Amino acid sequence: MSSFDYDLFVIGAGSGGVRASRIAAQLGAKVAVAEDRFYGGTCVNIGCIPKKLFVYASHFSEEFEDAARFGWTVGESRFDWPTLVANKNAEIERLNGIYERILKNAGVEIIDGRATVVDAHTVEVAGRQVTAEHILVATGGKPFLPDIRGREHAAISDDMFYLEEFPKRVVVVGGGYIAVEFAGIMKGLGAEVTQLYRGPHFLRGFDDDLRHFLATEMRKKGIDVRFNSTVECIEKRGGEVCAELSDGSEIAADLILYATGRVAKTEGLGLEAVGVELAENGAIKVDEAFRTSVPSIHAIGDVIDRVQLTPVALGEGMWLARHLFGETPAPFDYADIPSAVFSQPALASVGLTEAQAHEWHGEMDVYISEFKALKHTLSGSEERSFMKLIVDKASDRVVGAHMAGPEASEIIQGLAIAIKMGATKAQFDATVGIHPTAAEEFVTMREPVVRARDEAAG
Ligand code: NDP
Repeated sequence: MSSFDYDLFVIGAGSGGVRASRIAAQLGAKVAVAEDRFYGGTCVNIGCIPKKLFVYASHFSEEFEDAARFGWTVGESRFDWPTLVANKNAEIERLNGIYERILKNAGVEIIDGRATVVDAHTVEVAGRQVTAEHILVATGGKPFLPDIRGREHAAISDDMFYLEEFPKRVVVVGGGYIAVEFAGIMKGLGAEVTQLYRGPHFLRGFDDDLRHFLATEMRKKGIDVRFNSTVECIEKRGGEVCAELSDGSEIAADLILYATGRVAKTEGLGLEAVGVELAENGAIKVDEAFRTSVPSIHAIGDVIDRVQLTPVALGEGMWLARHLFGETPAPFDYADIPSAVFSQPALASVGLTEAQAHEWHGEMDVYISEFKALKHTLSGSEERSFMKLIVDKASDRVVGAHMAGPEASEIIQGLAIAIKMGATKAQFDATVGIHPTAAEEFVTMREPVVRARDEAAG
């Protein structure tokens, strides 16, 4: 019989915390979870889910245009921001309820309140101290804003989901997932959008061809994408905000969104006082079993800043619960994690970029297909799609797949299974396509372009 109040005390009911709590409880552990904001965390409330709903909303403007050449007269269209926000809020409330029920049905005790760690086995929450054999910190992350003058006038991604008025002119600062996604959303919903990125090309870490392709497509849609652009300061002038750039120019807007990364949410948890080591960027340091420098305290998800993706937090949470209360699974595998950017067009990738593949494996065959989707042969849209496979010459294994175009995320998710299984290019070629689809391109790419690419790289 344990002498602790709980076997596991989880701080944070986001994706990782909820999954770890539920699985641990199902494995027979006595579990409590403390949450001071909303069930489901960033993903459900101010991230993936409402963002994707906004992406759907923003696509309609193009759909209405595309419809005409298919014979449809759509009539006058008008976008009402408060309607979208209200309907989105109702859906998020429904999901909050589902998350709460998931926990309750699994027998997890939910404690509303902000928890702090008192010692290796004690947590203080809602005015009382409780003990646990294991403590799990799953508090996630929060937007990072650089320290520039006037930053209090900038919006962060959290704000975008609750704006009272739809801004007509938007400046997006940053070149990562969130910046690119919101640039597309706001443009599709009717705003004039300028995106400023400090480096020579945005979406660092993605395949170079994909990054260039997306920038071209975003510009074609009318987004003013500017590279090598740094904001010096922000000023509020009357009803508008103004970004002053390092080249001396200015951009006036109704809203300036800073999407310049996210940092671990560790402040005020009492972690350092009990000896939990943090990395320089504030993330909690953990070993391969998600144990911090205090062995009874564990951490998963965005707060450890390994891979800031919901499915990774879910996987880590599940792994940890099984490790603590069931049978220890094989080490959590971070290889070949697929991811998508819900830009317009969408972009998705799994495996290695061409540059990584050359660096890690040596000689590669690269297959590229760029085309106009069948729908747009009639719609009149100039949007194009892009696909790329990277094949290790020695083993014939497909080590990377990249796509920009409609349904890229859905297509790459399927390919991720093949790549995770170590599929070869010959096996891709032996797979029969589904016609007519964009996805069939991935099984019909016959001629490598590797010489041209090597020359381009060289
Ligand atoms: P990212 O880390 O993806 O991108 C941050 C961007 O901000 C980079 O372009 C970075 O530039 C730039 N930046 C950083 N510091 C500064 C600065 N001081 N001044 C100007 N620019 C700066 O962060 P996001 O906020 O977009 O997203 C956080 C994470 O959330 C993502 O990494 C992703 O893991 C996750 N996410 C996933 C989504 C999905 O799966 N679809 C959607 C949204 C978020 P540089 O490259 O030069 O460092």
